[in-house]
Amino acid sequence: MQAWLESIHARARSRLGSGRVASYIPALAEQDPERLGIAVCTNDGTLYAAGDAETPFSIQSIAKVLLLTLALRTHGEALWQRVGLNPSGMPFNSLAQLEAERGKPRNPFINAGAIVVTDRLVSAFATPDKHLQDVARRLAGNARILIDDEVLDSEWQHRSRNAAMAYLMKAFGNLDNDVDEVLRTYFSCCALAMSCTDLAVAMNFLAADGEARAMGERFVSPGLTRRINAIMATCGMYDAAGDFAYRVGLPAKSGVGGGIVAVVPGRMTVCAWSPALDDNGNSVAAQYALELFAEELDPAGISVP
Ligand code: GLU
Repeated sequence: MQAWLESIHARARSRLGSGRVASYIPALAEQDPERLGIAVCTNDGTLYAAGDAETPFSIQSIAKVLLLTLALRTHGEALWQRVGLNPSGMPFNSLAQLEAERGKPRNPFINAGAIVVTDRLVSAFATPDKHLQDVARRLAGNARILIDDEVLDSEWQHRSRNAAMAYLMKAFGNLDNDVDEVLRTYFSCCALAMSCTDLAVAMNFLAADGEARAMGERFVSPGLTRRINAIMATCGMYDAAGDFAYRVGLPAKSGVGGGIVAVVPGRMTVCAWSPALDDNGNSVAAQYALELFAEELDPAGISVP
C-alpha cells in the first residue's frame, strides 16, 4: 500500500501547474500550488501517507460533512424541513435558486445549505464552533487541530455573498438565529486547519459504519453513515458530482482549500490535497490522485480489511 500510494503521489504531481488557487478568500490565495499530499486510513486504523500529507490546510467545505453529521445527531430527520437533499445544478454559492425556492437550500453541501445547518447547531450548542473543533480533534485523535484565525478573518471580511444568502433565508423564516453569529460560526468551522492524515482518520467513521476508532466509540449509526455517504456521492463535489462519480465512484467531499476526502465503505478513507482548483472549485491534482486510487485499488491486488 505504501509504495503504491507514493506512486500515485508521483504520478499526480504531473497535474501540478493546472488550475488556480482559490482567491475569493484572500488568505487562501497565499497557498503554495505545488503542494500535494495523500493519506489513507484503513478501518483497522492503519495509516499510509505520501507527499505533504502532514501539512495542515484549510478544510473549507469539508467542514460541511461534520456540520451535517452533528446536526443530524442533534435534530434528526427534522433537519430536512430546513434543507433539501438533491444536487443543485448551480454553483455552490448561488443565490438564484434560493430566491426561487423560498429560502430552502437544495442540499447541505452548498453554502446556503451549510449555513442553515449551522443555524441548527447555533440553536443547539453554546459554542458550536468550539464543539465542532473538539469533535474534529477527537475524531482525528489530534488535540492540536486549530481554527486558522487569518482564514476566518479573511472569510469574514469577504462575506458579502454568504451574508446575502443568510439574510435571504432569514427573510424566508429559515434561519432562527442572528445572521452574524451564524456566519461567524460557519466560517470558523470552514477555517479549521487539518492535514490529509487528520482528515483520513477523522472521516473514517464514514467507512466504518459510524465507528470512530480514534474516539473509541460509535459516533453515528450505520444507517446515518449510509445516508451521509449518499449525500456525499450525489452532492459532495460541487457541480461536478456526476463527473466525479463516473470517474472515481466513491462518496467524497471537496473544499476550496484544495482538499478532497473520499470513502471506500467498509474498508478505508482517503484524503488528497493540492491547492490549485479547476473551474468547479475541485482540486485538479487531488482529483487525479483519487482517480488513480479508485482505478487501481483492487486491480493492484491491495489487500486491506
Ligand atoms: N467557506 C467557504 C465559503 O463559504 C467554503 C467554500 C467551499 O469550500 O466550498 O465560501
